Amino acid sequence: MAITIKNRREIELMREASQVVALVHARLEEVIAPGVTPLDLNALAREIILGAGAKSSFLGHHGFPGVICASVNDAIVHGIPNRKPLRDGDLISVDVGAIVGGYHGDSAWTYPVGNVSDEVRQLLVDTEAALYVGIDAARAGSRLNAIGSAIEAFAAPLGYGIVRGYGGHGIGRSMWEEPHVANHGDSDRGPGLRPGMTLAIEPMLNLGTAETRVLADQWTVVTKDGRWSAHFEHTVAITADGAPDILTKRLVAVVQ
Ligand code: MG
Ligand code: MG
Repeated sequence: MAITIKNRREIELMREASQVVALVHARLEEVIAPGVTPLDLNALAREIILGAGAKSSFLGHHGFPGVICASVNDAIVHGIPNRKPLRDGDLISVDVGAIVGGYHGDSAWTYPVGNVSDEVRQLLVDTEAALYVGIDAARAGSRLNAIGSAIEAFAAPLGYGIVRGYGGHGIGRSMWEEPHVANHGDSDRGPGLRPGMTLAIEPMLNLGTAETRVLADQWTVVTKDGRWSAHFEHTVAITADGAPDILTKRLVAVVQ
């Protein structure tokens, strides 16, 4: 499937969906604390998405049972929300997608639970920074792999394992469209970026090695060495000039 170019109307629908996602993140950030369960967060996300007149991108996607992915500690992505209360010092990566007018928005964020170690706090700071490094590289005229190359150049010297088997993606009428957006690679590879391309950019960094495995639930991707992992994601639109338009960045004036 070719990479689709979205027109202005399509991008505005994606922005609406993305703002629902941003609102979910804003509310979840307020409630994440020791004792809260991932299923509590899932219920709140569901209520916000439905209340906004949107639909969940994730629920039923290839049979996924949640409205959010909730990946705790050594889980990297695709964690199924469960009843296990979060503990002080944990981290939780929450991935959310919503659909408005047939178009998707997708964003993930990793939150500290209570007081986390300095090492974990730095992992969160650095993975969020890696996201913005990748976003800044997503410019018309560059090649797709400029994104992954920039993320790798930032994160590898810091000693993190950069997850390779999973990454970003095109997004629009489907949550997962062409192309795959790797978090590593050579900047002169891949298709040229053009205005109107819409991408989910999502680095995942591990405190240990980059190796992963999938749990018996067939969904949850965890680190092979059991060390912890963080994941930050925005949905962006490539612009004619300058840095991309971050659709999942919360616009307070639009979503109250
Ligand atoms: Mg996502
Ligand atoms: Mg995504």
